[in-house]
Amino acid sequence: MKNGIGLALILLISICTLNSVNHSGSDSLLINRIIEGNLTENDLNPDYSANCNRLGIYYYNTNKALIGIELTAEQIDLLKVKNAYSIVSQKIKEEYQKLTITFNQDKQQKTFFLKNEKIISPDSYYKKEMKKVETEYIRFYFSDSERYNQLASDFLNSEIERFLNIFSDFVTKDRIALLKKNKIDYIICSSMQEMQEITGFQTNGIALLNDDTVVSIDPSHMHEITHLLINFVIRDNQLYTHPIFQEGLAVAFGGRSGRSPKTITDSAIYLLQNGFISFDEILSVQTFQNQDASLTYALSGLLNDYLLKTNSPAAYLSLYKKYSVPPAVFPNLSVNKNDLSLDSNWEAYFKKVSKPVTDSVFSTKLLKETSDYRIFLINNTQDKWRIVIKKGVYCFLKDNRLNNYRSRIFGELLPNTKYNGQRYAIKAENDEIILYSLDLDRITYMISNGFSNTLLIRELPDGFLEFETDNQEILKIISN
Ligand SMILES: [Zn+2]
Repeated sequence: MKNGIGLALILLISICTLNSVNHSGSDSLLINRIIEGNLTENDLNPDYSANCNRLGIYYYNTNKALIGIELTAEQIDLLKVKNAYSIVSQKIKEEYQKLTITFNQDKQQKTFFLKNEKIISPDSYYKKEMKKVETEYIRFYFSDSERYNQLASDFLNSEIERFLNIFSDFVTKDRIALLKKNKIDYIICSSMQEMQEITGFQTNGIALLNDDTVVSIDPSHMHEITHLLINFVIRDNQLYTHPIFQEGLAVAFGGRSGRSPKTITDSAIYLLQNGFISFDEILSVQTFQNQDASLTYALSGLLNDYLLKTNSPAAYLSLYKKYSVPPAVFPNLSVNKNDLSLDSNWEAYFKKVSKPVTDSVFSTKLLKETSDYRIFLINNTQDKWRIVIKKGVYCFLKDNRLNNYRSRIFGELLPNTKYNGQRYAIKAENDEIILYSLDLDRITYMISNGFSNTLLIRELPDGFLEFETDNQEILKIISN
């Protein structure tokens, strides 16, 4: 804000529209700094600030605790217009207070939470009312106990361990100890409304960089945890990373939109083979962002899976850092294609991952038969099966650890049936066979005619569906 007089006017106007309780002088000075974008460390609650630094993750030239807290440059510009906004200040509880700025133009809101008149993050306010479970690397918070389960927690902790093992040369023992002690925070939201309240967004999940917290509607959101973990490994970070790497790494480890990495990278193979997306189209940040995320994220996920499996962790990290930049550089950032090692190694990798499962020679060796499905071994290779299944939804493997859990996906698949602690479900439809992990509330494996140039699922004369698979998990589940 350049015009101090204009600012004073706006402040007066806005304060007049307050429904405020005890709108003190220090309050209006803080509001002044908020709308000018001049917040400082002194405006932050010291406990909140310390909590933001608990994992030793930093961003150059940035007060980490203010990431996502401050108004954006666009919002600050909006506030320069007369009558552009109103502010409501409410005492909410004991020493807590909420400042809500409403932008008149589009009725968008931005909320600030204060404790003893100093800023904290919205999530840290909501966390204090939630139930809490401490695990090895993660501190879970939730308002609805039925949305937390131990299997999902074990899954995430072991995925974190796997990630840290890959980059073990770059993380000291002390840092691991610090992570185990201070932990990543993880809020499991009970509804989209709760998500909106805590983060201001309607999204399945988000990683909050200010206080190293994942907020998700599901209990197994490794994608968002990956965003925090790589920054933990790097330690002193640039604020922006090219999405090829930032999102590609998160997809390679955590999948996307409630789908496992394998389901996403499988779709990328098809998209690439059929020219729906190419590497050239995702090299620049601008062209990346102008395309459908289901294409760009998938291809980036496949690329990062390749780079991680083919390159050394050191080479991968230096690539990730090379394309991490300050905010001003980011919009015009482009990846040099030569850096992606799309050479004979890539061709070998691609050939391996895209190898079709279909085998024309069927063994008739029946492994298991029920009234709903039959499993055959193909070619006695012990690693490929032909499965014939009746259309429908089937649940498998009840687990006591899920007794008090409420699976979101189960509720969507079988809305009129009571969930009984099953770990898996298979949905068999004409063009799609989907394996769900109900404990993780995500799609683990999927065979889809829509993402294949050959007919993977065929309908037999008796109405049953037939498909081949080399997925060990699906066989283990249904042959049990
Ligand atoms: Zn992401």
